[in-house]
Amino acid sequence: AGTAPPAIVVENLTKVFKIRGSGEFTAVDDVSFSIPKGTTMALVGESGSGKSTVAKMLLKLEEATSGKIVVGGKDLASVTGKELFNLRSRMQPVFQDPYGSLNPLRNIGNTISEPLSTHNVGTRASRRERVFELLDQVSLPRTLIGRYPNELSGGQRQRIAIARALALKPEIVVLDEAVSALDVLVQAQILRLLADLQAELGLTYLFITHDLAVVRVIADHVCVMQRGKIVEKATTDEVFDDPQEQYTRDLL
Ligand code: ADP
Ligand code: MG
Repeated sequence: AGTAPPAIVVENLTKVFKIRGSGEFTAVDDVSFSIPKGTTMALVGESGSGKSTVAKMLLKLEEATSGKIVVGGKDLASVTGKELFNLRSRMQPVFQDPYGSLNPLRNIGNTISEPLSTHNVGTRASRRERVFELLDQVSLPRTLIGRYPNELSGGQRQRIAIARALALKPEIVVLDEAVSALDVLVQAQILRLLADLQAELGLTYLFITHDLAVVRVIADHVCVMQRGKIVEKATTDEVFDDPQEQYTRDLL
């Protein structure tokens, strides 16, 4: 292990939802982890354990109730304006439903280049060139550029979602059930692509899934979540060879 700072550090992250008429519900309870650069950490646990809420807080789609998120050595709470905007773009999401997360009215070229235009990166022509490059990177033919999401297979759509996530050259990709809606064969292809992209680009992944079989293929480290808390944190081999918690054994 090197001395480089982790790509992301999460400290004591907590989310309390106020439920109308029934008080409060702690969906994420004092969660801490860090992910070394260029590695994959899986966040696993059954439905409702708080995984997506963690992802949403990292992506600022939900405000944290308390806790700290440090990206590339910088506390997200301590930066503002343009610096925050840029820091946020270093972490990009890929969600479960490849169709739902792509706008059906936007063709593939515009889908992939949208983050580039939002961030004012390059000219129209250079953005188009970058879209071709990204299609190459996710092993899709350039001829797909004018198609719409409903004209693609599930696996192709998820490749588009990945290309879009990579447009701004992020360091971290947060994958929330990114292969869960795909059949096993296509899952394996997407996992292979993710591994290749990680090797090529040095990406850091937070890989969220309820499916431990997938974890074994892709993750270096595993955090097991139960009712909002991390109950086990270990290397993938440790978790599979010698799980410490009964809850983890049940998941296996
Ligand atoms: P997971 O992704 O592990 O399935 P989630 O993070 O989506 O779990 O949800 C964790 C818990 O928080 C669930 O009990 C869910 O019902 C609750 N929850 C999620 N979002 C909200 C919300 N906006 N308001 C109230 N409760 C929520
Ligand atoms: Mg979820």
